[in-house]
Amino acid sequence: MEEMTKIPLSQYPKTSQFLKLKPDPLIPSIKEALNLHQSSNQQETEKLFNKPRTLKSGAYQFTRPESRPEYKHLLSSPNALEFLSLPQDSPEDSYYKSIVSGEKFHYDDKIWPYAQAYAGFQFGQFAGQLGDGRVTNLFTLITPNQGNQELQLKGSGKTAFSRFADGKAVLRSSIREFIISESLSGIGIPSTRALSISLLPKTKAQRERAEVCAVVSRFAKSWIRIGTFDLYRWRQDRQGLRELCDYIIEDILDELPVFQKGEFVKDQYKDITEGSDEEDLEGLIEITDSTRYDQMYRAIVRLNAKLVAYWQSYGFLNGVLNTDNTSILGLSIDFGPFSFMDKFNPNFTPNHDDVQLRYSFANQPSIIWWNLTRLGESLVELLGAGPDLVDDEFFIEKGIKKQQEEQTIKRVSSIIQLASVEYKHVFMENYNSIMTQRIGLKTVEQGDNDLIAQLLDLISKTKVDFNKFFINLQNSTDLNDTSIYLTPELQNRLSNPKDKIDQELNDELNSLLSEFIENYKKRLGSTTHKERYSIASKVNPLFTPRNWQLEEVIESMYDDNEDISKLQKLLKMSSNPYDPLKWGDELKDLENHWLDDEGETMTQCSCSS
Ligand code: AMP
Ligand code: MG
Repeated sequence: MEEMTKIPLSQYPKTSQFLKLKPDPLIPSIKEALNLHQSSNQQETEKLFNKPRTLKSGAYQFTRPESRPEYKHLLSSPNALEFLSLPQDSPEDSYYKSIVSGEKFHYDDKIWPYAQAYAGFQFGQFAGQLGDGRVTNLFTLITPNQGNQELQLKGSGKTAFSRFADGKAVLRSSIREFIISESLSGIGIPSTRALSISLLPKTKAQRERAEVCAVVSRFAKSWIRIGTFDLYRWRQDRQGLRELCDYIIEDILDELPVFQKGEFVKDQYKDITEGSDEEDLEGLIEITDSTRYDQMYRAIVRLNAKLVAYWQSYGFLNGVLNTDNTSILGLSIDFGPFSFMDKFNPNFTPNHDDVQLRYSFANQPSIIWWNLTRLGESLVELLGAGPDLVDDEFFIEKGIKKQQEEQTIKRVSSIIQLASVEYKHVFMENYNSIMTQRIGLKTVEQGDNDLIAQLLDLISKTKVDFNKFFINLQNSTDLNDTSIYLTPELQNRLSNPKDKIDQELNDELNSLLSEFIENYKKRLGSTTHKERYSIASKVNPLFTPRNWQLEEVIESMYDDNEDISKLQKLLKMSSNPYDPLKWGDELKDLENHWLDDEGETMTQCSCSS
């Protein structure tokens, strides 16, 4: 194959597309940002760039990374470099290293670093202005093969949005974010990406103890969140909201058709209403013409439904699904106390502080829908307007008139109701499709959902490792072999029952087991092991990073910041989960330890990062 052209970061075509939206009025242009940067009054400069405040308006604030005494590039993700067509030896390039660590920043007449404004509902309560409190957005990479990608730094210092906090990210949480971003996308789960991790050797942050800090450079097609909409609603900024939506429609959601003014899409809702439950459709008004805002909302709903289907299929938990941590593009984003669930338990949350289990595994689908409902509410006017009003000058300027209220509310209620039907539909379609593939079935058939439910019921009781179970199932040629479904301890206990409790458990598991095995075999019909393996092995990762493994790597890095060998090994395994040939010849004992041993499972951590 012809070697694809690689572009060093210094020569990379760059722009900054988000700057199309309006800035914070206190630093209204790149020119003003530059003046401030060059000003002799450094106190004023720092105040405007790096001191917390509430923005009156605007989608972002021009800022600059805070200066640190020392920077040290630790590791870049080879897969991320490849994805962006950056050279694999970028980590040797001093320009690259200084940009991805925040030591230097790029600016020109179209580019200046900025922090995005957003708000959000945290644990169900509206929290006011949040925004990038420790993130600096650098620029948009105009990539040869992957469209536009927004590059940003996490842990790069204070901004207008830092509130009471320090703008820092500790090494511990940076390692976690770096690894999980690359793991998820390696598996095929939509996620924001991590490009690099750099140490700030002389910068400490006070958490439970004083910890060394780091910067992760990360990228995504867009970093807009549902919380971004919450901000405009709170500000009652009708014009800003419309500009945000138009930007998303024109520049971000390229799956949407191009709309000319006065053009609408006909009968867009037919495909979801057909075949839906009668009661889900109760009270709907007919929506024949759909506007670009209707389409935008639907696209965001669909992308998120797909994402949650992936999370539920792989046992991934974000841990803090606030609206500010919900991407409009259905990307896994903002990783705090996340976890791959070691054993199937619907009530599990990795978030130590989530005592109500709001963000537990079983709740993820309904919580993302809850967040999407907040989005619908932010869009009440734009969705309610419909084709008649949406481009009407009075409406754009002043909103709806009293006599239009009733119809507007009817329309937006119907749009949100339809979206909920579509959300469920897209979720189920994708969930069933991934899960059936995970057990080696090519297509989804009626009844598969029940088969999957039986399987989950079984393994929730036998407490085998969730993701390893699918590997064992796919590898096994004998589906009657109970060691696939039972842990060695359980097998042992059941073959020598000691008391009545053992006996009852034995009976229960035996009946669940025989029921599942019988139904599964029936469903497989004449499918051979080879066929089943070929389907399943494409979607069953051989490795998913667990908290105890991350902890081991973190410990090793806290002992010796110079030794990145374990971190590198974990990255190789996490980012190439289907391809052990890419895991390297080094540290084989560690590799086997991570593959075969069971560390502390189902652990929780707190939000401090
Ligand atoms: P998170 O829960 O990490 O998604 O963050 C919620 C909000 O707090 C966002 O606005 C973050 O930017 C902000 N934030 C979290 N940690 C820090 C920090 N150490 N310094 C400044 N802002 C922070
Ligand atoms: Mg966040």
